[in-house]
Amino acid sequence: MQPLLSTQPWDEDDGFHEECGVFGVWNATDAAALTALGLHALQHRGQEASGIVALSEKGSFNAHRGLGLVGDIFGDAKVMAGLKGRSAVGHNRYATTGETALRNVQPLFADFEFGGLAVAHNGNLTNAAQLKRALVRRGCLFQSTTDSEVFVHLIAISLYSNVVDRLIDALKQVQGAYSLVALHDGALIGARDPLGVRPLVLGRFGVGEGGAYVLASETCALDIVGAEFVRDIEPGEIVIIDNDGLRSMKPFGRSQSRFCIFEYIYFARPDSVVEGTPVYETRKRIGGELARESHVAADVVVPVPDSGVPAAMGYAAEAGIPFELGIIRNHYVGRTFIEPTDQIRHLGVKLKHSANRPMIEGRRVILVDDSIVRGTTSKKIVEMVRQAGAKEVHMRISSPPTTHSCFYGIDTPEREKLLAANHDVEEMARIIGADSLAFISLDGMYRALGRPGRDAANPGYCDACFTGDYAIPLTDLTGHPERAPALLAANGQ
Ligand code: SF4
Repeated sequence: MQPLLSTQPWDEDDGFHEECGVFGVWNATDAAALTALGLHALQHRGQEASGIVALSEKGSFNAHRGLGLVGDIFGDAKVMAGLKGRSAVGHNRYATTGETALRNVQPLFADFEFGGLAVAHNGNLTNAAQLKRALVRRGCLFQSTTDSEVFVHLIAISLYSNVVDRLIDALKQVQGAYSLVALHDGALIGARDPLGVRPLVLGRFGVGEGGAYVLASETCALDIVGAEFVRDIEPGEIVIIDNDGLRSMKPFGRSQSRFCIFEYIYFARPDSVVEGTPVYETRKRIGGELARESHVAADVVVPVPDSGVPAAMGYAAEAGIPFELGIIRNHYVGRTFIEPTDQIRHLGVKLKHSANRPMIEGRRVILVDDSIVRGTTSKKIVEMVRQAGAKEVHMRISSPPTTHSCFYGIDTPEREKLLAANHDVEEMARIIGADSLAFISLDGMYRALGRPGRDAANPGYCDACFTGDYAIPLTDLTGHPERAPALLAANGQ
């Protein structure tokens, strides 16, 4: 799926947008360079902006932030020379709240009584507006429009004396999804929200005293810097990494884990292992389940690249139908290389995908994609495959119908713009012009993750965009800050 950047005027914005990526390193030579590499591996999680804050050996903080891609922002030796030090945190941004502007680029940094603190946040807070109103009434001056800044002000006004207690105090007041990395002059801190909606992993270089620690959104960022995967940070866990090693705290009590199931379907990089499960293999298993559930006679299975590829491989293997790259993706579609004239707008999807005619012509084609959001891209892809001579086009989707918006850090259109929120599968097939359309079932998706099916009392994952089962209250949206029923049950309340 991987949509074009929404900053492009001719982008129809038909898709989920990745959230953000975070990376932090403690006690390593060239920490900022490692952070830049880590952010580069996490580029798929956000392409609008990046930043790094590094702690120099003299104890001062140096920062560089920019709009654009990691390679463009940190490819300059002079920039990296200004970020010397053995510890650093970094952030890739896709704006889920706040406009795209330099003042919203993270890590955020502030000087407190206890010294400087840099914070990088992946996720979305669902009571940020309410908290912001209260903080502004107390005299807090916000510098950005990002929800993440409430962390900074909550830490600033906390009455606790040390930085970890202040951070916990702040985290207890926020609702929503967050994986955080924070750096002050005495420690690197990592934290995940009590339900663990967004990922965060721990890695390590070397062993024994003097070993360096890494925190990252995904294991692919550990691989690029040569760090060994240690474990996932657990839901509700805070880790404090300093010169004495690593301490872990769980200040929030017990709750059900609700890791974002869409990370497996689309967001995470296929070479990452999230929550102990390899993404690539999971996508193939989802494809296999999809084939079992919605088999149709065909000559060839074709993925919508890139994210549809592993599911299509799994589908083809299960169905015993040849897999072919019948659509080729242009990876070099730039942001501003062409004016958005009507003619260009009409070309639409062809700028990004083109049909590989010899693999399609005269054949019955099964197209496999990861999701349908508004349906505009699917319609154009089906049309393109028909124009390339396909006899039949059957669309298979490796996620259940997306009927609800995400409020936990993934940028989705409003519910009324989601095709599946307004049409049944038959109508959707007609709208996108496919001979048939099928989605994996909810139970099938859970089976691919090694479960017998979806357990409504304890799904174990966030699947709200398919079910509307929002486990974290949507306080800013509803005005009701009370906790959601699933959480009450989990906590025996
Ligand atoms: S609503 Fe969907 S995209 Fe958002 S966190 Fe939940 S599963 Fe992930």
